[in-house]
Amino acid sequence: MTALAEILRAEIAATGPMRLDAYMAACLMHPEHGYYATRDPFGEKGDFITAPEISQMFGELTGLCLAQAWLDQGAPNPVALVELGPGRGTLMADALRATRGVPGFHDALQVHLVETSPALRARQADTLSGHTPTWHDSADTLPDLPTLSVANEFFDALPIRQFQRQGDGWCERVVGLSDDTLALGLNAKRIEPTLAHRLDDTADGVIVETCPAAAPVINALARRIGSRGGAALVIDYGDWRSLGDTLQAVRGHDRADILAAPGTADLSAHVDFEALTHAARGTCNTTRLAPQALFLSRLGITQRAEALAVNMSGPKLEAHHAAFHRLTGRDEMGTLFKVMALYPEGAAPPPGLEP
Ligand code: SAH
Repeated sequence: MTALAEILRAEIAATGPMRLDAYMAACLMHPEHGYYATRDPFGEKGDFITAPEISQMFGELTGLCLAQAWLDQGAPNPVALVELGPGRGTLMADALRATRGVPGFHDALQVHLVETSPALRARQADTLSGHTPTWHDSADTLPDLPTLSVANEFFDALPIRQFQRQGDGWCERVVGLSDDTLALGLNAKRIEPTLAHRLDDTADGVIVETCPAAAPVINALARRIGSRGGAALVIDYGDWRSLGDTLQAVRGHDRADILAAPGTADLSAHVDFEALTHAARGTCNTTRLAPQALFLSRLGITQRAEALAVNMSGPKLEAHHAAFHRLTGRDEMGTLFKVMALYPEGAAPPPGLEP
């Protein structure tokens, strides 16, 4: 049994079943035993691989997208270039390299990273050693400046709650103990006013998810973008309105049990883009959702891939083709991942996205 399993078992024995968001937060971010707090999980040797780790093209194109939004809005100086959950810092490094030639951009920008994991902060400092980022525990402390932000696979790591429909009410799924081991259970039925709109599109027994931590992050970005300008790209797997149980554990590139060995597997859930849009409402605009493949192809990934391929051959070229396919292929990240942006009222949406 992992050390974290022992801690959680003792806590549940003392105070009763635990909400899933508390369980997920402990598994991912417990200061001593949390998954992100203790390791670098990315890459072929890690547990999963993300788009910026697959190819430099991903960070280059998202960086250029934000730089174009900055130009379209009159090139404000200073401007905050923000990444939420930067992982190894690869996306930001590729974005900064690709935008070096944009006149005035690097003179105007300040790099801000929202990251809670000390292990990953150290890794990001290493990757971005030529720059001077400022780290934040949450989006609340970001500067009050025009803000260009990107979040890739950040919102899917935020803790979720799950509710199972029962008649006109909902039973929350919780982590309890069965024979002294962690087991999922259901709380007693309650009326949940915040889920009233889900009584229309669910049948008895269906699970819906909410992510309480997402709206405050969107609010913090939307307030800055709405009043000062900028844009925020949200890239993640999920869709408009989540339905069903999407919580998953991944270890060593394979699916794992969410309760077995807490703290040693990545936990994530699909992002509900409708909820993110609602959180920005009244403060700034949001674009439609675009599949990642469409977004990247509108930004010119095919041309960029061809330009990079000119100097490649053999296994390197094959890997480059495979990376292109993973980022843009059907039933790969190309369609599973969606992109949405926040942008100011009266401004054009960032390139690659539609109002
Ligand atoms: N964007 C990176 C990493 C995605 S993994 C990439 O695409 O490769 C999720 C990232 O979000 C990690 O860096 C993790 O430490 C960070 N993270 C997770 N929950 C967070 C939270 N609540 N606040 C800040 N960072 C968080």
